[in-house]
Amino acid sequence: MTISVQEFREKARAWLEENAPKRGARPADESRELIEADRDIVTEAKEFQGRLYDGGLAGITWPQEYGGQGLTNEHQRAFNEESAAFELLTGTFTIGLGMCGPTILAHGSDEQKQRYIKPMLRADEVWCQLFSEPGAGSDVASLQSRAVLDGDEYVLNGQKVWTTGAHYCDYGIVIARTDPDLPKHRGISMFIVDIKAPGVTVKPLRQITGGSSFNEVFFDDVKIPADHIVGAKNEGWRAAITMLMNERVAIGAGGGGGPRGAPPGFDSFVRMARERGLDADPVIRNRLADLYIKRTVLGYIGMQIREAFKAGRDPGPIGSIAKLYGSLLARESSDLGVDIAGPQAVAWTDDAKKGDKWSMSVLQAPASAIAGGTNEIQRNIIGERVLGLPKEPQVDRDMAFKDIPAGTLR
Ligand SMILES: Cc1cc2nc3c(=O)[nH]c(=O)nc-3n(C[C@H](O)[C@H](O)[C@H](O)COP(=O)(O)OP(=O)(O)OC[C@H]3O[C@@H](n4cnc5c(N)ncnc54)[C@H](O)[C@@H]3O)c2cc1C
Repeated sequence: MTISVQEFREKARAWLEENAPKRGARPADESRELIEADRDIVTEAKEFQGRLYDGGLAGITWPQEYGGQGLTNEHQRAFNEESAAFELLTGTFTIGLGMCGPTILAHGSDEQKQRYIKPMLRADEVWCQLFSEPGAGSDVASLQSRAVLDGDEYVLNGQKVWTTGAHYCDYGIVIARTDPDLPKHRGISMFIVDIKAPGVTVKPLRQITGGSSFNEVFFDDVKIPADHIVGAKNEGWRAAITMLMNERVAIGAGGGGGPRGAPPGFDSFVRMARERGLDADPVIRNRLADLYIKRTVLGYIGMQIREAFKAGRDPGPIGSIAKLYGSLLARESSDLGVDIAGPQAVAWTDDAKKGDKWSMSVLQAPASAIAGGTNEIQRNIIGERVLGLPKEPQVDRDMAFKDIPAGTLR
């Protein structure tokens, strides 16, 4: 019999109390898992996710036959509400669980779901996304990586860039061109690729925070078994859209609040304002209230999107609204944090009450306006699909990819 939402809520609460640190309880430098993604933190995160799975709290709405809990959105919501006060250490798996998993569940074969979903949920295997290339970011369909069928395997050549986590991942979802005679969106296929396979070279990049969470990835004659294709040959763009929609939601709607209590992390702003005697300052109070409202609205947008996914509906351009809104809020939050922290946010001492956290946050904030489609691209989508403005001209849309004068494989 299915566990009731209330019973599940109590089970989640008890597990969290026992297994997860309270938000803000860890030293600031240990909270930087997304910035640094260094191996110790990844190991700790994997161990945590394994326990979460064994506690019956991972893959809450994912099908039971592939290792999920098979529960409802209400169960998920109860978990989200209970976990808001805790630090979950699950950010390392946003790409796997928020993007790769849902894409395999939507477009993968039964064998792929049986083989990959459960180890992904337990974090026994960690996943990355290999879409962007040096010449293909916003217009990712102009990608040049090439996969050629040779007997019962594809041979992959090309280069990806900005691949978050490739240096600690086991598998990735890659999109590559499989027919340059077709127009650019139609000759692409999606594959599951073993990051440890011969011919895959991962080179970390250094970012403005000092961390190194993403990479260049080179493919030199990498052999991919033909049955590792996700969906049909040359129809990878459909699956890519699924993944990008999930990405917008994972990045955009992740930091929002819900119907119960303050949005995640909000308390730390209030605490910091109190510590600095700014909790009676009318301007700071106004900005705190504004942030609370906006984060709560973002939470509701996220809920609306998750409901649509769960009901098998395309959430449509609301994913772009969530992504754009989330990235603007990330910037607004870090600006408020800096204004409350004051000079300690730019020049801190060891006892500076997490001032350094805010400088990191400022340096990190632009990333969410780029990752998963830039703010300009989200505005284009909203302009076209919500406001009904004229579409951007796309002169190369119906041409064979090989005939496009720029960005062509030669
Ligand atoms: C933190 C982070 C993590 C990432 N992780 C991954 C990952 O794991 N896997 C992956 O595949 N990729 C990843 N990316 C890459 C990301 O998807 C791309 O950076 C993004 O899509 C933008 O592409 P680009 O960098 O090539 O910029 P470009 O597409 O070259 O854009 C440059 C500028 O031109 C603007 N622009 C481009 N086209 C238009 C247009 N039509 N209208 C208006 N303005 C336009 C853009 O908004 C931008 O300001 C990550 C990026 C970041 C920042």
